[in-house]
Amino acid sequence: MAILKYREREYSCRKGETILAALLRQKVDLSYGCQQGICQTCLLRSNISPPDYAQKNLTDNQRSKNCFLACQWQPEEDVTLMTLESQDFVNAHVVSKSLLSQDVLKLTLEFHKPFEFHAGQFVNLKKSEQVIRSYSIASTPNYSNTVEFHIRLFNKGQFSQWAFNELALGDVLLVSEPKGNCSYSSEYTDESLLLIGTGTGVAPLLGIVTDALEHGHSGRIHLFHGSHYSEGLYLNTKLTQLSEKHENLYYSGCVSREVSAVFFNGRANDKAFSQYPDLKGWRVFVCGNPEMVKDSQKRAFLNGASCSHIFSDAFVLNE
Ligand SMILES: Cc1cc2nc3c(=O)[nH]c(=O)nc-3n(C[C@H](O)[C@H](O)[C@H](O)COP(=O)(O)OP(=O)(O)OC[C@H]3O[C@@H](n4cnc5c(N)ncnc54)[C@H](O)[C@@H]3O)c2cc1C
Repeated sequence: MAILKYREREYSCRKGETILAALLRQKVDLSYGCQQGICQTCLLRSNISPPDYAQKNLTDNQRSKNCFLACQWQPEEDVTLMTLESQDFVNAHVVSKSLLSQDVLKLTLEFHKPFEFHAGQFVNLKKSEQVIRSYSIASTPNYSNTVEFHIRLFNKGQFSQWAFNELALGDVLLVSEPKGNCSYSSEYTDESLLLIGTGTGVAPLLGIVTDALEHGHSGRIHLFHGSHYSEGLYLNTKLTQLSEKHENLYYSGCVSREVSAVFFNGRANDKAFSQYPDLKGWRVFVCGNPEMVKDSQKRAFLNGASCSHIFSDAFVLNE
């Protein structure tokens, strides 16, 4: 058992227990989100060097300050914990809300000054200290003060129900700094890009595709969007029109639970990997359902993509 020192009190941490689980068990009030090492809401600092696995996807600056993901670290020795100086949340207000489909909301937020990010990154949106959720940015960093999100409605979802039903124009939301490395860079405008998204996983991919086109990307771009049913392919019109305007852009809508005469029948990643068996030199972007993301990372690699050219965001739900 390890002892955790936090705010001048001591807490036990059982063998195999994460720091976050130990503190929550002992009723410490901490911010946390996905509990799977992705959203970074539970970031803390320690007096000793955290193990690599507890610093996954942190910046060099955060690593050098001994920052770590409390939901990941299972310490075997005593640790003193510190909160971060600031969690870097900024205010933004709601400037538009509209439905993209029956259960996908397009939410646009406006900041007081331009919000800097890379196309494809995600942020954490804070409803309250207890309800902080990650959402990918669907728009591009075009130096405007607005940012667009696509939010899927969950039956009893604490954030999504509130965003659909209560959040009103003019309301203020707290937004974290942008996170993640599933993003486009203008350093490779001539390379081929394969993008696979399921559900609202298409949101960051829309940002990436738009950004690539705005940068005059000349390599092939192929976006596969998967859904169970055709009404889930909520960007079909927009992406079809975009692909008609740009001869290097291809869009394939795929449905896995209905027989369609319009869309491909089957899973988006099955279709993508069978169409592109040789991905040597390609960049691959995958977002959405966590199992699909995991499976696609493996298959992209087996089809020849280099590990450093595979970018992904698994939309894990809070436990
Ligand atoms: C990096 C990242 C990026 C993300 N980007 C987006 C995005 O762009 N758009 C987006 O919509 N979401 C995105 N998500 C998911 C998002 O963060 C939330 O988890 C999601 O919106 C649910 O939040 P909620 O508060 O509405 O639901 P919660 O209150 O967290 O409830 C979700 C819980 O509801 C249960 N549940 C209810 N209905 C279902 C169902 N149909 N299937 C499975 N479980 C169900 C599950 O038990 C689940 O744990 C992202 C997640 C991550 C980690």
